[in-house]
Amino acid sequence: MTKNIVVIGAGISGMATAYLLCEKKYHVSIYAREFSPNITSDRAAAFWFPYHIRNDKRGINWCRMSYQHYKQLAENPETGISMRILKKVIRTGIEEEEPVWVDFMPEGTLRKMNADELQPGYAKGYAAIVPLIETQIFLPWLRKQLENSGVHFYKKDVQSFDEIKNEFDIVINCAALGSRKLCNDESLVPVRGQVALLAPKNGMDIFLDNEKPLYVVPRKDAIIVGGTYEEGIDSETTEPATIEKLLKNAYEVFEDLKQQQVMGSWAGLRPYRADVRVEKEPGTNIIHNYGHGGSGFTLSFGCAREVVSLIEEDLKRLIC
Ligand SMILES: Cc1cc2nc3c(=O)[nH]c(=O)nc-3n(C[C@H](O)[C@H](O)[C@H](O)COP(=O)(O)OP(=O)(O)OC[C@H]3O[C@@H](n4cnc5c(N)ncnc54)[C@H](O)[C@@H]3O)c2cc1C
Repeated sequence: MTKNIVVIGAGISGMATAYLLCEKKYHVSIYAREFSPNITSDRAAAFWFPYHIRNDKRGINWCRMSYQHYKQLAENPETGISMRILKKVIRTGIEEEEPVWVDFMPEGTLRKMNADELQPGYAKGYAAIVPLIETQIFLPWLRKQLENSGVHFYKKDVQSFDEIKNEFDIVINCAALGSRKLCNDESLVPVRGQVALLAPKNGMDIFLDNEKPLYVVPRKDAIIVGGTYEEGIDSETTEPATIEKLLKNAYEVFEDLKQQQVMGSWAGLRPYRADVRVEKEPGTNIIHNYGHGGSGFTLSFGCAREVVSLIEEDLKRLIC
């Protein structure tokens, strides 16, 4: 009989999980306190890059699976996903951290840049092909696909798993920072990211200088200039002095960006946990999928695939 599944959370983690469950013909509902465009997933710069998951080797498969999934979706322009050049650079005089992220890249997607390709002030760089997920297009598209597949979205603030666990065969927790309370998990912390927005411009690549720190992400509706990484801050407001500093960093590298109108700014809270939690809670019908930090899009479909595998392993055990 088809399993009746509820996913808590309508961010990229919850919707990617629901998407793969629908492919397997499960009956899926989504319960969420808030929906796009009012959640962290809307605040992401959202290019594929394994950020702060270097020590979690499970992440290699998850990131690569997501990469392949986005690459396929990029064939359909309606998804808002495109394959783009990412330039990851290291400034002169800065010691490069061990580039562990290179192990996460699918084969054939990365090369070292030549010295004549680097801007002044930079000693080294990598050019990679990565998916850019324009959240303002992709998140509504994904929701539409889910609704067309019969997924119902319900606005519900789940206070405890006890409220719902008997209503469904399986409960999947993709509540991100909401899991601090739901799971009493204090190892999960908010990490604020503030970004500035400039008027859009054609012909730019994604640019990442982690040490400055600076990233520049050219979307159709804006250029995102980021970003801060503020551990333990749980306010979603931006600070004018910080936004000014981000813009100054960007102008130092790309002087011509001074001509782009400043369109605004935003801040979001990354749900950071030292280890992403994707596991079944023993003796219950609850599966967790949260704590993706600054890599929620990069991990999304890979972690979702892991959730599907956990369900299928359980079903196999029941049949045997
Ligand atoms: C500035 C910034 C830049 C970023 N850039 C990138 C990037 O380039 N690449 C990348 O991969 N990642 C990036 N990220 C990280 C990415 O945004 C997050 O990892 C990702 O959005 C987390 O998705 P999620 O679905 O787990 O959480 P969320 O988007 O926060 O969704 C959580 C959902 O759970 C719901 N919820 C919570 N508690 C409850 C409850 N008790 N009951 C019911 N519903 C509940 C919420 O309402 C929401 O619907 C960035 C983040 C920020 C802030």
